Amino acid sequence: MSGHEQAYIQSAFDTNWVSPLGPNVDGFEREFCQSIGCAHALALSSGTAAIHLALKLAGVGSGDEVLVSTFTFSASVNPILYLGGHPTFIDSETTSWNMDPALLEQALSERAQRNRLPKAVVVVHLYGQSADMYPILAACNRYGVPVIEDAAEALGATYKEHSAGTLGRFGIYSFNGNKIITTSGGGMLVTNEDDEDGALIAHARKLATQAREPAPHYQHTEIGYNYRLSNILAGIGRGQLQVLADRVQRRRQNFDYYEERLGHLPGISFMPEAPWGKGNRWLTCIVIDPDQFGADRETIRLALEADNIESRPLWKPMHMQPIFAKYESVGGEVAQHLFEHGLCLPSGSNLSQADLDRVISMMLAARK
Ligand SMILES: *Cc1c(COP(=O)(O)O)cnc(C)c1O
Repeated sequence: MSGHEQAYIQSAFDTNWVSPLGPNVDGFEREFCQSIGCAHALALSSGTAAIHLALKLAGVGSGDEVLVSTFTFSASVNPILYLGGHPTFIDSETTSWNMDPALLEQALSERAQRNRLPKAVVVVHLYGQSADMYPILAACNRYGVPVIEDAAEALGATYKEHSAGTLGRFGIYSFNGNKIITTSGGGMLVTNEDDEDGALIAHARKLATQAREPAPHYQHTEIGYNYRLSNILAGIGRGQLQVLADRVQRRRQNFDYYEERLGHLPGISFMPEAPWGKGNRWLTCIVIDPDQFGADRETIRLALEADNIESRPLWKPMHMQPIFAKYESVGGEVAQHLFEHGLCLPSGSNLSQADLDRVISMMLAARK
């Protein structure tokens, strides 16, 4: 926490706005739009809820196919199943580790020939770096398929002159405890593709509020959800938003320091930064070639753990997950390689140089 949050929480208590709506929710949505440059935003109880509503607004229902990055966290995929749809996974390219536009184009053109286009594409901006959006949007626009950007990890990152998450029909963000800014739990759904009255976001807001119709009594004509963000947590979000730039700077400094101290060693490579944008370096990610480095990924991880330092393999791709193994995957080797050899290093915004030095020296000592 930054210290700015407490005043917003206090005002929620002082005014008795202890509910899933109120001035902090309105303020958080407004300030979030200003911060990233989008027209409409809806604060929600989680990023997963935001993906669920985005898919629902894109028309995904029973039996529908959705194309989604395989290299991601399961929350990018689960809501497709909530709606009775089924995922098809798309592998990554090696420039940003995100969805490969060429594989996406190939999957879309095959489906267009069969007259079976997917209902939506979920493209993930992993580890705080944008996917290559222009070719992805061009392919999806050619076939009229809406794009949902999962920018849960990428708040503060850019693509060209845009904020990551603002180019598709919908963008989603997460404020879970592990993300670059947090409300303890929370999410945001945004769009620039809306009419002036914001009818799309207004519909999402209604769905998130138990689909209550405007009537004096409780009236319902569709199935709703209880997905709105608490006015207290939105207050935390308003305070956190003020330090977003600082957090991005801190995370980038972590990355630069690790790279400066370890990057010259044989067999270790750092997550590349694609030429089309600037990442937030949410986590510092490395890939290990065991023969050249003198230790494999797991040896390093266990050596750190023995000293009570937590590190973690990169995301295990969705096509390798038992629960999703039965679905089609277009490629998958790039993501699989990253999972098998990749490691996320300690990356918190509050790490000291001494902390980083300790991690680095343990890694050096783990080599043969
Ligand atoms: C964290 C995360 C989500 C889910 O966000 P929650 O707020 O935790 O529901 C979705 N996608 C990705 C890539 C994430 O990292």
